[in-house]
Amino acid sequence: MILKLRDIFQTEGLKKPVSYEITTEELESIHGYTFAQPVKVDGEVENRAGIVTLRYKVACVLDVECDRCLKPFKQEHTYDFTHTVVPTLHSDNRAYDSYLVAENDSIDMNETAITDLLLMLPTKILCMEECKGLCYICGCDLNESACDCLK
Ligand SMILES: [Zn+2]
Ligand SMILES: [Zn+2]
Repeated sequence: MILKLRDIFQTEGLKKPVSYEITTEELESIHGYTFAQPVKVDGEVENRAGIVTLRYKVACVLDVECDRCLKPFKQEHTYDFTHTVVPTLHSDNRAYDSYLVAENDSIDMNETAITDLLLMLPTKILCMEECKGLCYICGCDLNESACDCLK
């Protein structure tokens, strides 16, 4: 979704909701993750005293596999993000690094939300903190059964 911000930049006090879903088709190109359902984006963009702020929450459900026992399960994640949005910069001032730049007064909201989300998602996935994993000799799930291989 392209978020058009010209009126927000021009109007102090103006606020707009940013609530929509990124479809699973649009998420297909994200390598390493399988999304079980559309990703929900819910927030708002506001011009307060000339400062434009984008605040939103991203909620997703991933189809994952435990790194230790390989059991498939679903994992929910919800994160909050806040960005100060500035119009297109005409200088390459390094101080603006943490800002979100609105090229042509608009923001690609999918790209912003997915970039933010990918920085937060865990790289190590366990079905539970104390998962015992699989026996590397017989392959049995040590959470559910015991074997004699290591005795
Ligand atoms: Zn596990
Ligand atoms: Zn075993």
